Amino acid sequence: MAEKKQVLLEVNNLTKFFPVKKAMFSNGKSYVKAVDRVTFKINKGETLGLVGESGCGKTTTGRTIVKLYEPTAGEIIYNGVNLAKYTQQQMLPYRRKMQMIFQDPYASLDSRMTVGDIVGEAIDIHGLGKGKERIEKIRYLLDKVGLNGDHISRYPHEFSGGQRQRIGIARALAVEPEFIICDEPISALDVSIQAQVVNMLEDLQKDLGLTYLFIAHDLSMVKHISNKIGVMYLGRMVEMGESNELYTHPLHPYTQALLSSIPIPDPDESEAKKRIVLEGEIPSPIDPPPGCRFKGRCKYAKPICSEEDPELKETDKDHFVACHLY
Ligand code: SF4
Repeated sequence: MAEKKQVLLEVNNLTKFFPVKKAMFSNGKSYVKAVDRVTFKINKGETLGLVGESGCGKTTTGRTIVKLYEPTAGEIIYNGVNLAKYTQQQMLPYRRKMQMIFQDPYASLDSRMTVGDIVGEAIDIHGLGKGKERIEKIRYLLDKVGLNGDHISRYPHEFSGGQRQRIGIARALAVEPEFIICDEPISALDVSIQAQVVNMLEDLQKDLGLTYLFIAHDLSMVKHISNKIGVMYLGRMVEMGESNELYTHPLHPYTQALLSSIPIPDPDESEAKKRIVLEGEIPSPIDPPPGCRFKGRCKYAKPICSEEDPELKETDKDHFVACHLY
């Protein structure tokens, strides 16, 4: 009998709106609807890839889950506990379990601190080791992410982009987390380095039983690391499914366009593949008009698309789509 998977994180109708100033003499308030009723689950030890263009709300989703932003509405159920209404004080034990790796490995590391201090800071804050034990732990972590333990006294500027990202990962691992939000961890890296970092994250996941939310705008890398993939468009989740299923049978016109833009190394295959070019403007996320948010760029749009915002529904086992075509 197949082993029952344990859900580590369940996000229900997660919503994050940011108030914005309205023009003079206009009434009421306006909101940037950055994340609007987003729902998904991540099983323990697995990865959910979250993709979409810049500004689609994927990073805000990650930051709201770890309560760097307070959610406007919805549930963040972590290991059975709803963290959505937790105060920052109540969040402290979860700060250790839930870590983030950031996009820019240089900006996220303090250039005045040595690598040992950067990785050791988290160990100190959480009281996870002192003296010799602390040093041993830092060396072990550097080794774990493919750096040399002797790098402990060097500064971030002495490393390449890929190595700096490895330092950021070692820092996240220092507190022995269960769940890591990888926020575009490879976007700023050279293409030749990207695969190395993704492979390392996969090895660490197997070794340490980690669970990931992997945020990216590049669908090709996400496929490699994700069990499931969610596609976001202007604050809404428009499609979600098992990684292979989503790649072979994309349903939402936006997912189809994203997939068609992935370059194929084989020139014959590439020639045969038709690229879907999206036309039209991305609407403003400030108080978007009713209906489907993709309608201005969708060649299949019909009258109902301007009236009703399609809800995410299951069309096949574990394959969800928000589109009036289904
Ligand atoms: Fe296109 Fe309508 Fe589907 Fe939106 S709901 S993606 S406009 S067909």
